[in-house]
Amino acid sequence: MQLLKDRIIKDGVVKPGNILKVDSFLNHQMDIAFINELGKEFKRLFADKPINKVLTIEASGIGIACITAQYFNVPVVFAKKAQSVNLDGDMYTTKVESFTHKKVYDVILSSKFLGPEDHVLIIDDFLANGCALLGLIDIVQKSGATIEGAGIVIEKGFQEGGAKIREMGINLKSLAIVEEMSDDSLTFRADEE
Ligand code: 5GP
Repeated sequence: MQLLKDRIIKDGVVKPGNILKVDSFLNHQMDIAFINELGKEFKRLFADKPINKVLTIEASGIGIACITAQYFNVPVVFAKKAQSVNLDGDMYTTKVESFTHKKVYDVILSSKFLGPEDHVLIIDDFLANGCALLGLIDIVQKSGATIEGAGIVIEKGFQEGGAKIREMGINLKSLAIVEEMSDDSLTFRADEE
C-alpha cells in the first residue's frame, strides 16, 4: 500500500535490534485519518469473507482493529496479556513471547466472546517472528471459530513470521512488507494486489 510505504519512509525510524519505530503515527500517537485508510484497505482485501468479528491483542493492535471493524460493522475482541492465569475453564489461554519486551506472557480471551459460530479476521500492527499472531491463531483454534484471514499493517519480511503463517495456509495480507532496513535505507517487497 503506497500511502503506508510513503509514511514509513517519511516518519519511521529504524532502531537497533531490528525495531522499526512508527510511534508518531501508528502505535503511540495515532493518526486517525491515516489509520482510517488502512481500515478501508483491510476491508477491500477481505471484502468477500463472511467476517463477524475482528480479533487482536493488546495493546497496540486495538486502535487499528477498532477502525477496521467499523468497515465490517462487527465487534472487536482483544486478547489480554496476563502475568499469571487461573485456569477456571472460562477462558482460552496461550503463551506469547514478546518481540519488543523479550518476555513470555500468558494471553487470555474469555470464552464468552469467541466460539464455533464465529468467522474471525485477526488484525495486528506488526509481524516479526510471528509469536503474537501464532498465539492469536492458537486461541481461535481452541475456540472452534474459523480464521477468515489475518491483516497486518507492517510485516518485517526478513524475519520468519510471515513464511510460517503462510505455510499454515492462513490467508495473510500485509499492507507493507519491509525487505531490508538500516539507519539510512528501507526497501519494500512489491505489493501483491
Ligand atoms: P512477533 O510476535 O511477530 O515477533 O512480533 C509482533 C509484535 O511485536 C507486534 O504485536 C508488535 O507489537 C511488536 N513488534 C515486532 N516488531 C516490531 C517493530 O519493529 N516495531 C514495533 N514498534 N513493534 C514491533
